[in-house]
Amino acid sequence: MGPMRAACQFARSLIALHASVTRVTVDLYGSLALTGHGHATDRAILLGLSGQEPATLDPDAVDALVTSIRSTGRLLLAGRIPLDFREESDLRWERETLLPPGSRTQHPNGMRFRAWSGETQLLETIVFSIGGGFLLADGESTAQKSPAQAPLPHPFSSAAELLDAAHRANLRIDELLLANECALSGLTPSQVHERILAIWSVMDACMQRGIATEGILPGGLKVRRRAHRLAARLESVQPGTAPDPLAALDWLTVYAMAVNEENAAGGRVVTAPTNGAAGVVPAVARYYLRFVEDADTAGLLRFFLTSAAIGILYKENASISGAEVGCQGEVGVACSMAAAGLVAARNGTNGQVEHAAEIAMEHNLGMTCDPIGGLVQIPCIERNAMAAAKAVHAARIAMQEPEEHKVSLDQVIRTMYLTGLDMQSRYKETSLAGLALNNIEC
Ligand code: SF4
Repeated sequence: MGPMRAACQFARSLIALHASVTRVTVDLYGSLALTGHGHATDRAILLGLSGQEPATLDPDAVDALVTSIRSTGRLLLAGRIPLDFREESDLRWERETLLPPGSRTQHPNGMRFRAWSGETQLLETIVFSIGGGFLLADGESTAQKSPAQAPLPHPFSSAAELLDAAHRANLRIDELLLANECALSGLTPSQVHERILAIWSVMDACMQRGIATEGILPGGLKVRRRAHRLAARLESVQPGTAPDPLAALDWLTVYAMAVNEENAAGGRVVTAPTNGAAGVVPAVARYYLRFVEDADTAGLLRFFLTSAAIGILYKENASISGAEVGCQGEVGVACSMAAAGLVAARNGTNGQVEHAAEIAMEHNLGMTCDPIGGLVQIPCIERNAMAAAKAVHAARIAMQEPEEHKVSLDQVIRTMYLTGLDMQSRYKETSLAGLALNNIEC
C-alpha cells in the first residue's frame, strides 16, 4: 500500500508541475528492495505511477493493467500523460544499500522517485513506507505525522492516559474513541458507525472470496490455499455426529487464512494494521458474530473502535512495520488489537480491555519477520490464524481475571519497540535469515 500511495502522489505532483516529463525512475532501498518482489512492490509502483490508489483500485483490473504496462513499456502517468517506463532500467532494487542517498530519515523502507525532462532532473522525492500504508517524507518524524494537532475531546498518548481519560469522562474506550473520531472527522456518531460497517463489509467480502477460492498462490512457492478446503470439511459434518468442541477454533483459522490467502494473491484486503497481518482482526470479528452468544452490531462497533484505539497506541509509541521491529509489530499488534476488541464486544471493562491487549502482545514479543522467498505466505498465512486464536485466548484470560496485573500495556508496547530495535536487521523483512534462510528449497 505504501509504495502505491507514494508512487501515485509523485505522479500527481508531476502533473501539477505542468512540465514536460520524459522519464521517471524509482529506486527501492533496504527491506523494500530485499523483499519487494515477494510483496508485489513492483506492481504497486506501476499501478501508483498510473494514478491508482489502494482504496479505489479495482482488483479485477490489476492484472490486465500491469500486463499492458509490461508488454508495451508504457504507462499513463497519473492516468493522464503517456510515458515510457521500462522496469529493467527505470525501477531499481538497491539491495546493498539501506537508505536513499542523503536521506535524513533512518527507516529501512526507503524509496526515491525522480522525474526528468531530457537530461534535466525536474523533481526528486524521498519517502518511506512505515507500515499500514502510512508514508513519511524524508526528514519528517512520526510525531510530526501524528494527527494530535486537531483538538480532541479526550486526548491520550499512552494506555495509562487512555484509561485515565475514559475514567474521568465515565466512558468506555470505544465511546471515547468515537467522540475523538467525530471531532477529528466532523462526522456524526452514526456516520462514523456507517463507515466502520462499510469497512467491515470489505473485510467480510474478502473473507468470503478467500473461502470460495481454491488453487495455488502465485509467487513460485506453490503454496496451496487451505481456507476453502478447511471450510468445506467443517461444513460437511454429518448430522448426528458429536459436535467438535473446538470447531470454533477451526473456523477462526478459516477466516484468518482466507484473508491472508487473498492478500497473497493480490486481492483486496483491509489493512489492519498491515496487509501481512490483515487476517487477525476480521477473523476475530467474524468469530464474535458467529460464536459469541448475544453478539450484535453494537458489539461489532465496540470491537472495531476499541481495536482502533489500541492500534493507535502502537502506531504512536512503537511501530507497526515488520521492517522496523519484526513481525511482533505486525501480527503481534493485530493480535493485541483483536484481543482488546473482543473484550469490548463482550462488554468487558476498560481495565480488561487493556489487560487483554497486554497479554496478547506479551506472547508475541520477539517475533521476527522472515518470510520465505520474501512472499507474504510462509509463515504469514498460518501466523495470522495462530494470532487470531491467541487473541481469543487473551480476551478470555483477561475477562476471568481481576483488572490488576503486573505488566501494563504501556510497558509491553515499549518492550516490543525496544526488542524490535535490538533485533538484527536480517530478521526484519529482509528474507536473509530465519525461516527464509533455512527453507530455500521450498
Ligand atoms: S512474517 Fe509477519 S511481518 Fe513479516 S511479512 Fe509475514 S506477516 Fe508481515
